[in-house]
Amino acid sequence: MQPTLADIYAAAQVIRGVADATPLVPSPFMTERGGQEFLLKLENMQPIGAFKLRGALNAVAGVKEAAGVTCCSTGNHGRGVAFAARERGMRAVICMSELVPQAKVDGIRALGAEVRIAGRSQDDALAESQRLVAEDGLVEISPFDDPLVIAGQGTIGLEIMTKRPDLDTLLVPLSGGGLAAGVALAAKAIKPQIRVVGITMERGAAMYESLRAGRPVEVEEVASLADSLGGGIGMQNRLSFPMCRDLLDEVVLVSEEEIYRAMQVLYYEDRIVAEGACVVGLAAVLNGKVTLSGPTATIVTGRNLDMEMFTRIVTGQDVKLGDVTVKGVPYGQ
Ligand SMILES: *Cc1c(COP(=O)(O)O)cnc(C)c1O
Repeated sequence: MQPTLADIYAAAQVIRGVADATPLVPSPFMTERGGQEFLLKLENMQPIGAFKLRGALNAVAGVKEAAGVTCCSTGNHGRGVAFAARERGMRAVICMSELVPQAKVDGIRALGAEVRIAGRSQDDALAESQRLVAEDGLVEISPFDDPLVIAGQGTIGLEIMTKRPDLDTLLVPLSGGGLAAGVALAAKAIKPQIRVVGITMERGAAMYESLRAGRPVEVEEVASLADSLGGGIGMQNRLSFPMCRDLLDEVVLVSEEEIYRAMQVLYYEDRIVAEGACVVGLAAVLNGKVTLSGPTATIVTGRNLDMEMFTRIVTGQDVKLGDVTVKGVPYGQ
């Protein structure tokens, strides 16, 4: 049931030429601040602007006969599924909650997929997706709890380790855990002593709370600068929860203020435009929440952000997130 390294190699063949071989580049600023060589895997450069294309291509390729595909999504998985379905001439219906930023919804529609906005949480979006499975005969593709999706995301780990087998630590943004499960599986199969750290935001950390409880638990879903890390892990989680439990060395939380600052760092120091979800690894290092002991890499997972909000952050203005305000600070102060 759980994917293996062989499944990840198979996924690499499926996605080849479409979603593979993104650059792994040094960050001189983070190398200086972290005291160890620090590398960025640029998944923001994928055709859909996020790594989720890997898992989506692999999973949609595994759908044999169906009226089409459907999924719930915080935005990027839906975009990946829409892209993959369009390549195969399949119908795609993407279900999302009202929390998903408009920029992501627009990107999905532009790929020709149907969009359903359902409720205020990932769970509501999932319920709508499951209704479509029952009523329209669509096949559901989970954003993280699917062996083909996990194997697809695992190809990132394969590419990183092939390029840098000497890597000591991998810092992986963590939400439903498909990315962390796949990357940790690949990395540890190749180098068992590597340290893999999952990083997520304090606000609504479903996998973190579930790992602490020893079983999937529900958390309240709230707005975050790392909107791609929102949502639960599913009370019926079969794969990504046990894999994260067994493969991650630790899970670290960062605050909204720390994410805000790290987005400025990635922009001003590395000149990269990326979502809040991408910078949690940088935020953890910059705030002393992980100590590095050798060459380190993190994954810049996506670039699909609301540019108005991003402009506020790089110019140091306050950002309102539902009921809280993240206090603005100009960069360098
Ligand atoms: C989905 C996503 C993540 C987290 O991936 P999981 O497999 O859900 O843990 C991180 N960053 C971005 C940009 C994403 O879209």
